[in-house]
Amino acid sequence: MHIGFLGLGNMGAPMARNLLRAGHQLTVFDLSEAAVAGLVEAGATAAASPAALARTDVELIVSMLPAAAHVKSVYLGADGLLAHVRPGVLLIDSSTIDPLTAREVAAAARAHDNPMLDAPVSGGTGGAAAGTLTFMVGGSAEDFERGRPVLAAMGRNIVHCGGAGNGQVAKVANNLLLGISMLGVAEAMSLGVALGMDPTVLAGIINTSSGRCWSSDTYNPFPGVLENAPASRGYSGGFGTDLMLKDLGLASEAARQVRQPVFLGALAQQLYQAFSAQGNGALDFSAIINLYRKDAQA
Ligand code: NAD
Repeated sequence: MHIGFLGLGNMGAPMARNLLRAGHQLTVFDLSEAAVAGLVEAGATAAASPAALARTDVELIVSMLPAAAHVKSVYLGADGLLAHVRPGVLLIDSSTIDPLTAREVAAAARAHDNPMLDAPVSGGTGGAAAGTLTFMVGGSAEDFERGRPVLAAMGRNIVHCGGAGNGQVAKVANNLLLGISMLGVAEAMSLGVALGMDPTVLAGIINTSSGRCWSSDTYNPFPGVLENAPASRGYSGGFGTDLMLKDLGLASEAARQVRQPVFLGALAQQLYQAFSAQGNGALDFSAIINLYRKDAQA
């Protein structure tokens, strides 16, 4: 299939490479010339703008952009995709953005007779390179079935979450809970250790008791408890504090739009924001435990 791909960053570049590996023909665009050059070297063709990409005979377009403002400009701008793409071409946006913007762009696409899916991912850059991402997909069942084989070349779990925007709803709800649960584990671990408990013994109790969760048993924030967690390598790699802060911002904005309280999410957002303001935005988000630990060097 001839596929267009826009946004060749940390996630988009390895995803696009997996489409090439699966035998698809690729036309790509990114504002960064270096990013485009990398994909051209791997066998893709460069387009000079989103409009130029849209005017080729692509059958499907995937985008992987930083945030909602970029998605709006690439799809809705005068030199954007919708003003130039043929009707019927399937559009898939895999950027993480707020659900209401995703629905707005999908409605504009429908008005141009272009079906659209929102398909944000989890799995990080490692999953993007390995082709094992989870795609949370919003859109009609028919469009989902059309997009599924292409998504399957980049991911392992492809889940239909319901109508337009629901992929983003799933992503935002999960990451809201993750941000909160990490704070809960950080607080409980810090209290236990401050009261004299060994962190590994405490984590073992939690992980066989009712406090257990992914943040405690797979990604424990206390250094030394889990050998492979970012906490045991100075909080490097993993999922950055600033990315968690972005996702909590999306959750809180989406909540505001539907007047849904997110009490703990709002507090979590402020705590990650304070931690980022102290210069820790690039550290893995589990480093938030350093807000609690009297003995820690953040
Ligand atoms: P990134 O900043 O590495 O890449 C974004 C790319 O988009 C860059 O190459 C940039 O030049 C390009 N771009 C920006 N504006 C553009 C425009 N108008 N036209 C064309 N290209 C443009 O970001 P990333 O880490 O690849 O993340 C992409 C999306 O995936 C984000 O929404 C992020 O939240 C989400 N995400 C990231 C991760 C992760 O671990 N990095 C995990 C899950 C989801």
